[in-house]
Amino acid sequence: MMRGRFAPSPTGPLHVGNLRTALAAWLSARSQHGGFLVRMDDLDPVTSSPVHAAGQLADLDALGLIHDGAVVSQSARFDLYREAITRLDAQGLVYSCFCTRREIREAAAAPHGAPLPDGAYPGTCRSITAAQRRDHERAGRPMALRLLTHGEVVAFDDVVYGRFEGAVDDVVLQRNDGVPAYNLATVVDDHLQGVTEVVRGDDLLSSTPRQIHLQRLLGFDQPVHAHVPLVLGADGERLAKRHGAVTLADMAAARVDVTGVLAMLGHSIGLCDVDEPVTADGLVERFRWADVPRDPWTFRPAS
Ligand code: GLU
Repeated sequence: MMRGRFAPSPTGPLHVGNLRTALAAWLSARSQHGGFLVRMDDLDPVTSSPVHAAGQLADLDALGLIHDGAVVSQSARFDLYREAITRLDAQGLVYSCFCTRREIREAAAAPHGAPLPDGAYPGTCRSITAAQRRDHERAGRPMALRLLTHGEVVAFDDVVYGRFEGAVDDVVLQRNDGVPAYNLATVVDDHLQGVTEVVRGDDLLSSTPRQIHLQRLLGFDQPVHAHVPLVLGADGERLAKRHGAVTLADMAAARVDVTGVLAMLGHSIGLCDVDEPVTADGLVERFRWADVPRDPWTFRPAS
């Protein structure tokens, strides 16, 4: 069965960019008569909050983006992610890394040939000796777990972007504070939840080769990917709070009701006029990925 999902990080209210991605994910699933799941990417206990999670779910409901089944929270699933790390470890593909962010930044600045993903790790701790490892442990340096890769390059066909190819790096599997890492958790959950279509913001496009590589190593099916272009403010910068009414609550305060928000979002993905009285349900039949623009959307808030 086709099954889509939306997986926000509950670190603040959803802004129009997130809402637009959620709408596309939901419309795609429903137009294929598929299921639609919501999952909270709340791995990070410092930045995530149940208050934001509840607010985000209320916003999705308000727009009529109804999900199936219970909302899954990644914070409650660490055992499942660790199990996957154990399976990779059994393949000899996990190593300890003691690098600080700064060390990684400096090493990554060195020139390289392949198109590496954002924040790529240069592999410094790959060949650490037992003595060095002991020194690090004795010094109390926190330890992350990384995936051992061998310069694999992964290509896939994104529904919006088209063909994308990227190199895979030694991605973090478990952070040095013990929290399982995003890429691993996403792959494990998409598999366990039977997700067949991943729709998300295109800031994650460069991480997708890493996730496909992990899926292959763990024997999971590869979902279809659709990366929705990001949203810019009128000044051409990435959309942020300072651009004005960017959340549903902000827009309500500026007297843009849910219908108005849906019309604006629907218009931005080629489905309706900007002032057409639409509902989410009413847009399902009109939805086509081919109409979703590949270029960023410039958002001009109501004033
Ligand atoms: N939680 C991520 C975000 O809000 C999306 C992760 C995903 O869809 O894989 O940007």
